[in-house]
Amino acid sequence: MKEYPVLDPKITGKLKAIVGEKYLITTDDDKEPYSHDETLNHKFMPAVVAKPGNTYEVSAIMKLASSEKIPVTPRGAGTGLSGGALPVCGGIVLSLERLNQILEIDGENLMAVTQPAVITQTLQLAAEEKGLFYPPDPASLDSCSIGGNIAENAGGPRAFKYGVTRHYLCGMEAVWPNGEVSRLGGKTIKNVSGYDLMHLICGSEGTLAVVTEITLRLVPKPPLAVDLMIPFSSIEDAVRACTAVIRGRIIPATMEFMEQKAVLAAEKFLEKRAPFREAEAHLLVQLDGDDRKTLTADYEKIGRIVSDFGALDLLVAEDRPSRDRIWEMRRCMADALTQMSPVREREDVVVPRAAIPALFRKLKGLSEKHGAEIISYGHIGDGNVHVNIMKQGMAPEAWEKMLPTLLDGLFRGVMALGGTISGEHGIGYVKKKYLPLAIDAPALVMMKAVKKAWDPDGILNPEKIFL
Ligand SMILES: Cc1cc2nc3c(=O)[nH]c(=O)nc-3n(C[C@H](O)[C@H](O)[C@H](O)COP(=O)(O)OP(=O)(O)OC[C@H]3O[C@@H](n4cnc5c(N)ncnc54)[C@H](O)[C@@H]3O)c2cc1C
Repeated sequence: MKEYPVLDPKITGKLKAIVGEKYLITTDDDKEPYSHDETLNHKFMPAVVAKPGNTYEVSAIMKLASSEKIPVTPRGAGTGLSGGALPVCGGIVLSLERLNQILEIDGENLMAVTQPAVITQTLQLAAEEKGLFYPPDPASLDSCSIGGNIAENAGGPRAFKYGVTRHYLCGMEAVWPNGEVSRLGGKTIKNVSGYDLMHLICGSEGTLAVVTEITLRLVPKPPLAVDLMIPFSSIEDAVRACTAVIRGRIIPATMEFMEQKAVLAAEKFLEKRAPFREAEAHLLVQLDGDDRKTLTADYEKIGRIVSDFGALDLLVAEDRPSRDRIWEMRRCMADALTQMSPVREREDVVVPRAAIPALFRKLKGLSEKHGAEIISYGHIGDGNVHVNIMKQGMAPEAWEKMLPTLLDGLFRGVMALGGTISGEHGIGYVKKKYLPLAIDAPALVMMKAVKKAWDPDGILNPEKIFL
């Protein structure tokens, strides 16, 4: 690991002068929450946490860090699952938490302008108040920030119909590693003036620039939605039915699935019997639209299609309480699995949709070979599967020894199926050793050259993405 200068009292004094004493955190107790994110088992203490209150202060911090060669780790809400916000090299955690205002919901242009620390759900509710819709819906939406979503190019169940964060990004204000500030894009949908640096920053996991303002496209909110639960006796049938629905010219807002083991975990967590608990796969389909008659015609058509593919039943939920009941198991999945095994590895691999059955065969093989329970659920519509490797009773040493081998097998398996190693959570700190499995050598050289050109001293979020 590269050595960085120690942050001496002179630099701390300058940081205090930039953000004010109250917003520079130096004691271990107060820094502790910034030493980890939601990634399991990793903790790194920063030298200080700086909480700037505006772009000018972010820029001044970056200028100081750049001249002193001090590492800086941007941080949103700390819900990341790949360790992107971990201050691996110490230095400064740059917490954006005070930049938490929605600046504008522009109903004329269907745009939102927001600061980065706004919680995703807060922005969604503000858009909805004006009859508009910000569709990206990571499961963490009540706690993650828009800035973190941009940095990770976050997705969610609605990505199947509506796309991921990048598809809504139209403009941003960015502070480069040297502290200079740029405005990229704006309220226009089209923009081909020069290289598209903005969409390169999106998904760069805080390694290329600090994002201080964001302009996002909104869409009109569909007023109606219907949810369907469809059990199948095999994952193959569920996947084939899903493809047939799409070929039947129906594009649901979400197409989610849970394997039987996941349903049984949710059943235990909720302490109530799951519907169709004997089914090997549960499909959850949400249709949205403007008109009840079309929605009814669509779900009736889905009913006919899925029965041709061996669906065991079809539950339709049109009112809010029934719709909530249908989603209850899927929504509690993370907590249910944590209850089953507080230590678990969460992966979010992606494969082409038709390869999902082959992925499940691979997972079964890995589970048997390594003696670890693997439980999966996720976004069947776009092939993004959340794979949970459960430690349960395994001894810590055995777990530490087994996990890298299992992950290596898993990632090689998804690449062989034409997929990739992360669809939503990013590479961050924890997956960087596996990136060469997903990106070929010439492309890796190009990526590292981009990082070097933007951040020659490697001060912005070091030790992330690349080995
Ligand atoms: C229970 C749970 C469910 C989840 N479900 C999903 C899901 O469905 N889909 C999904 O995509 N993710 C999901 N996640 C992962 C996580 O919530 C997302 O990656 C989210 O986008 C992170 O946002 P954050 O504000 O917490 O960012 P942080 O964790 O604070 O940071 C994440 C990365 O963004 C960088 N960063 C943050 N803010 C900025 C900024 N302003 N400028 C530059 N870089 C910045 C950080 O340096 C870091 O690399 C889930 C997490 C949990 C715990």
